[in-house]
Amino acid sequence: MSDTKSGFSLERRGLDLRFRTVTLSAREWLAPDFVRVRLTGGDLEGFDSPGSDDHMRLFFPTGPVSSVEEMRASPSREYTPLAWGPDWLDVEFAVHGDAGIAAPRAATAPLGSSIGVGGPRGSMVLTGAPGSWLLVGDETAIPAIRRFAALITTDVDARIVIETVSTGREIDIEAPVDVEWLHRGDAPSGSALIAFLDGLTAEDSIGDDPFVFIAAEQSIVRPGRALLDRWGVDTARAVVKGYWKRGEAEYHAPH
Ligand SMILES: Cc1cc2nc3c(=O)[nH]c(=O)nc-3n(C[C@H](O)[C@H](O)[C@H](O)COP(=O)(O)OP(=O)(O)OC[C@H]3O[C@@H](n4cnc5c(N)ncnc54)[C@H](O)[C@@H]3O)c2cc1C
Repeated sequence: MSDTKSGFSLERRGLDLRFRTVTLSAREWLAPDFVRVRLTGGDLEGFDSPGSDDHMRLFFPTGPVSSVEEMRASPSREYTPLAWGPDWLDVEFAVHGDAGIAAPRAATAPLGSSIGVGGPRGSMVLTGAPGSWLLVGDETAIPAIRRFAALITTDVDARIVIETVSTGREIDIEAPVDVEWLHRGDAPSGSALIAFLDGLTAEDSIGDDPFVFIAAEQSIVRPGRALLDRWGVDTARAVVKGYWKRGEAEYHAPH
């Protein structure tokens, strides 16, 4: 159990795995390469996502499907539930060109298309109150960062650092601190974040009892773990994760 006075913990919670069929019903472009979609349907009754960096599996059938089995046979990718209600679920997609399944569908599939939602089937729930926060990610981590940012209280130190291509791709993020935007320009995804992490020394630690979340292209993992080491942060109380891998479709991050 966590003690809210002396810190926080990440607690694993299992959820019943359910498959739902929903309808792509609205699309809002927040930047030229970042789109929020609303999925709707009665199947979403009971949907829950207790952990800020939970993921669900979205299934993208190429035609009409008549059973859960057919839906589950469709190509699928992992996404973060951003917000939801009894019959709606919002998801945000980094749109990264024509390659892949999920991002192109999120960008161009006709409204009314069917999409499958599997899970989330487990959560890491942050309980208690971190003494400070460091949230770092690329566009794919923005939904998780938004959810963590909503938990930050104004009395603690926090830094939120997000990499995108350029100033024109920045997105409004509601948070108690200003987001520090890093721009990679034409450099590979993750390069600005890696330089940032590598530049943080032991003395740059943001405060006592920090919660550290770092997620981006897979090459972020090594510098992310090295930072935990420098700061003396227990890996069981942090998240450092590759959310995708350059040149690899349907990358499965180790859990
Ligand atoms: C726990 C978790 C949560 C995630 N949550 C989100 C989320 O909420 N929003 C979100 O946008 N993504 C999220 N992702 C990342 C998403 O699952 C991947 O980006 C996924 O590969 C996209 O699928 P796709 O079909 O578009 O491309 P794929 O078919 O998987 O890949 C096709 C090609 O595109 C490349 N590629 C994949 N993603 C990117 C990218 N972002 N930028 C540039 N090139 C890319 C691949 O390397 C490959 O060469 C999450 C991943 C994990 C593990």
